[in-house]
Amino acid sequence: MARYTGPVCRLCRRFGDKLMLKGDRCPTPKCPLEKRNTPPGGRPPPRGRGGRGGVSDRGLQLREKQKVRFSYGVLERQFRRFFSQARRSPGTTGENLLILLERRLDNVVYRLGFGDSRAQARQVVRHGHILVNGRKTDIPSFLVKSGDAIKWRETSTKTEYYKRIAEEIEEGSVPNWLSLDKESMTGRVLNLPAKDDLEAAFNVKAVVEYYSR
Ligand code: SF4
Repeated sequence: MARYTGPVCRLCRRFGDKLMLKGDRCPTPKCPLEKRNTPPGGRPPPRGRGGRGGVSDRGLQLREKQKVRFSYGVLERQFRRFFSQARRSPGTTGENLLILLERRLDNVVYRLGFGDSRAQARQVVRHGHILVNGRKTDIPSFLVKSGDAIKWRETSTKTEYYKRIAEEIEEGSVPNWLSLDKESMTGRVLNLPAKDDLEAAFNVKAVVEYYSR
């Protein structure tokens, strides 16, 4: 499946926000945003519009939508499909959208610590290393449900990558809606993410406004 393959740090610089797309490197001083938080091209943002850098409401909404989309590594068409599904579901559209994105298998693999970044987690899934309820599942957009067990395929446990991950992984670092048994390297979906489990950094209201015009 197609995905964004350009320089990811450039995206963070464009949005002026850490999107944590490079795994281990992101929380360290090696992150380019720690050195200079300027947009790509070196131009300072234009002044105006109440300190919003001359950006219109529509521009701000687009920016927030792109931030969420790039953070989860989803292409526009699929993101739009998620949005339609979120709008049709009961509850708040913005929250529904984030819940759907959180339920993607590549995100769950990332949240369990089986990948340093979502991009790496997606590769782990696509290479067929992951079983969901005992069945090989290599579709990153597969949506997990409550009670699902996520585990490594037996043959994959012989790889150097698995051995490193198994050594470094910490049980306590998974979100509340997931559990991880380090011994068997098995993750479980305890329940679907609730409002408090969602990324507070995203302005989902702006995303909803963007698609509601
Ligand atoms: Fe973004 Fe991570 Fe690159 Fe920093 S290191 S700019 S957080 S992707």
